Amino acid sequence: MNCIFCKIISREIPAKILKETTNSISFLDAFPLAKGHVLVIPKNHRQKIQDMTEKENSDLFSLVRTMISKSDSITGSTLLAVHNGIDAGQEVPHVHVHLVPRSNSDSAGAIHSMFNGSLKLSDSEIEDLYEKLKI
Ligand code: 5GP
Ligand code: ZN
Repeated sequence: MNCIFCKIISREIPAKILKETTNSISFLDAFPLAKGHVLVIPKNHRQKIQDMTEKENSDLFSLVRTMISKSDSITGSTLLAVHNGIDAGQEVPHVHVHLVPRSNSDSAGAIHSMFNGSLKLSDSEIEDLYEKLKI
């Protein structure tokens, strides 16, 4: 499979690997948005979070939790992000959680700054979305 992250896992291409567990691996992002930008990925190739098994999922987020305590030591605050699908901004089609140390002097804002304000939804639209999303 021609997946850059699978090649990092198999050591076909080099990466600064920080920590490896049974099902997951963490390494430095090669094009960091901030000092200490870390990626955490499952070892099995999965495109989206919902494609992972429960075991892969719990192992991944356990490693995220471990790595956050490390990345948080850089600035004291860390942005967590997952681009779960192409339209969400995913370029590498292998699940990855971004851990980006943030500071009030960086140029990025909160997630809200990615959008042109909040939506005004009608009661029927809210009800429709509620019916679609509730489990
Ligand atoms: P996405 O846009 O898919 O959410 O993020 C992909 C991330 O992978 C980007 O932050 C990019 O810098 C990182 N990346 C792309 N190619 C490589 C690589 O070869 N090695 C490492 N370590 N990171 C990479
Ligand atoms: Zn892959």
